[in-house]
Amino acid sequence: MRVEVIAIGDELLIGQTINTNASWIGSVMAEAGGTVQYATVIQDKEDAILYAIEHALSRVDLVIVTGGLGPTKDDITKHTLCKFFDTSLEINEEILTHVRSFFAKRGREMLDVNIQQAAMPMGARILKNNQGTASGMLFERDGKLLVSLPGVPYEMKHLLRDRLLPILEERFEMESIYHQTIYAQGIGESYLAERIKDIEDEVRGEGIGLAYLPSPGIVRLRLTSERTEHNKKRIDHFLTQISDRLPMYVFGREAGLAKVVGELLKGKQKTLGTAESCTAGSLSSEIVKVSGASEFFYGSFVTYTNKLKQHLLDVREEDLKAVGAVSEEVVKQMAANGRVKLGVDYCLALSGIAGPNGGSIEKPVGTIWIALASKDKVITKQFLFGDQRDRNIRVSVLTALNMLRCELLEINYEKSV
Ligand code: ATP
Ligand code: MG
Repeated sequence: MRVEVIAIGDELLIGQTINTNASWIGSVMAEAGGTVQYATVIQDKEDAILYAIEHALSRVDLVIVTGGLGPTKDDITKHTLCKFFDTSLEINEEILTHVRSFFAKRGREMLDVNIQQAAMPMGARILKNNQGTASGMLFERDGKLLVSLPGVPYEMKHLLRDRLLPILEERFEMESIYHQTIYAQGIGESYLAERIKDIEDEVRGEGIGLAYLPSPGIVRLRLTSERTEHNKKRIDHFLTQISDRLPMYVFGREAGLAKVVGELLKGKQKTLGTAESCTAGSLSSEIVKVSGASEFFYGSFVTYTNKLKQHLLDVREEDLKAVGAVSEEVVKQMAANGRVKLGVDYCLALSGIAGPNGGSIEKPVGTIWIALASKDKVITKQFLFGDQRDRNIRVSVLTALNMLRCELLEINYEKSV
């Protein structure tokens, strides 16, 4: 099933809203057995909409339009679709009752424009929206389908998943795709490729697709094939093989290194704190994104200045003077003293030069020291990341989490990098 997504909205074109609808639909369709071949973004203008849908219907089996279904004047999708499919609007009693009860439940007054949300194109199949007042509409022409969904992401997702997919499954032979992803931290995509060359050859030899998808600090490795029992087993086998070979990098089959680390800490009933300089709380903020963090996370010291490192963490003044804040000696004291002061089992400390300014020849921008203190030792490691500030902070946070993951799993991190 060939699919085109048409996202309508000026805000998407001027960069005010990111077109997450298209990417979400792309991934859901791939799983359901459709292929998004085109994703178009257009203005809220009648001629643009007419032109885009005419073209889309000429080249795919299903067109998914999102946006412009609200009650306001700038939302013209419904009227334009009526024009295109040569039909007119008629109040749909069932939808009107739904819209009325939607307002009643929230104790809000219903306006005339809201009644118009129950005006539906005759001949279209209506997809009732339990999450809002804008219904979806499904049109058919020459054996091809066009569905119009609201732009609000959670409403669109509900209608697509709960209303549209069951219809598509009945109608099209969905050749379903199977894919599985593993996530790796601390290794670049080319190095990863080098380390699994033999496995990659075997994977490709069996007709299974393999893609490296890098983002700051993390590489995703995705295997894709037609969904058969045999392929599922093979993909599982290859991914296990890769994880077993590179346990210091591969942290799981789902995003969320902080979650993996949190589960490990909870499993071992250990507690965690942080002492952060260059990341200024980003590590603790990453840790608490996972619900239930309070079970193992105590808190952190954010000591951006040398004075605070001395006052709050008892870092020795002579060391700060002699070797500077970005040094093994200082980060070690931050971690060890932070651990005792916070009363935790593990303390991660970071000190570095995030950039873009502040580097020197001995300590260029991107130099980051990370230390992990536990009851009987402190592990330290120096890294040299890039020259982009945001990226350095992000990669530092992920690297620190992976150091802790390796420690908890007794994987020798020192040797691996
Ligand atoms: P509403 O009933 O809220 O007016 P609508 O169908 O008219 O819904 P739009 O007005 O186009 O939808 O968009 C509503 C909101 O949904 C936008 O402000 C935007 O935040 C979000 N949105 C719209 N299109 C997209 C998209 N393609 N990707 C992500 N978000 C989107
Ligand atoms: Mg709107």
